[in-house]
Amino acid sequence: MKKLFAVLGDPIGHSMSPVMHNDLFSFYNIDAHYLPFQVKPENLGDAVKGLKAIGAGGFNVTIPHKSAIIPFLDEVDELALQIGAVNTVVNKNGKFIGYNTDGLGFLKGLADDGLSITESKVLIIGAGGAARGIYFTIAKSGPKAVDIANRTVEKAAKLVEECPFQIPSKAISLSEAAETMGEYDLIIQTTMSGMSPNLDEQPVSMENIQDQALVCDIIYNPLETKLLREAKQKGARIQIGIEMFVYQGALAFEKWTGIFPDAKRMRENVLQQLGGTSNVNR
Ligand code: NAP
Repeated sequence: MKKLFAVLGDPIGHSMSPVMHNDLFSFYNIDAHYLPFQVKPENLGDAVKGLKAIGAGGFNVTIPHKSAIIPFLDEVDELALQIGAVNTVVNKNGKFIGYNTDGLGFLKGLADDGLSITESKVLIIGAGGAARGIYFTIAKSGPKAVDIANRTVEKAAKLVEECPFQIPSKAISLSEAAETMGEYDLIIQTTMSGMSPNLDEQPVSMENIQDQALVCDIIYNPLETKLLREAKQKGARIQIGIEMFVYQGALAFEKWTGIFPDAKRMRENVLQQLGGTSNVNR
């Protein structure tokens, strides 16, 4: 019988996960189907019960349910608990187990660029949910240092305080980040600034960036943000948000099926949905 996989979110119409996972199920001859479900926060518990009752193989969780899902699960992986958010749930012998593949997906995307985290001084721009997952995952890998720059500096300071891993880390303002940009080997943009429809926004200037740096923007709509265009003009290497999206999905697929899927195929598929091409500069 066909196994059901799903993504729960609100809104959910924009999600590219169904196209990405359904293509993989058919490519690997797995008798399964992946469906999006719009679930209001007050119905989340019932939705999880329903998925369990019908024996769903697993599901993804997206905004606004990534933290709220935790009490409805049977077990939660240690890193996901530390991050305080789950994006992937696996049905293991009738038990729903939660994981967070967002930060690990981001790190896997970096491996393609040959960057060593342990030798990098990192700047994360933003202090929201995505920043938290990436920050804690990178901190666990033992980087030289990770600084957090945010519009609301208090939120960055709170994030630094809550990090469960002992690494050199400080909270700074966006203007301080602009001035000290040249100190960083890896810069990760995680705010909403520059996301469609605000294409002319940029949270921080890239004027002082070093040309050896790698700049990643996790926004994938547009494919290339204004910040990435400026970083590229300054000679830095860039990585678009599709990489993190593809690898968080690849890690989820591996948890459900035991197969680590063809990331190139996934990237092409997602780019096609977004109307881009594989020539988009990474
Ligand atoms: P969130 O928790 O709401 O955090 C939003 C962050 O953006 C905060 O740091 C906020 O600063 C900052 N911000 C918002 N508007 C800003 C502006 N105009 N100027 C400067 N900073 C601004 O959101 P999230 O869940 O972390 O998601 C953030 C982004 O990541 C979204 O664009 C999302 O699509 C993307 N994302 C991508 C992937 C992927 O797989 N590629 C995965 C997850 C998320 P304050 O604290 O000052 O409000």
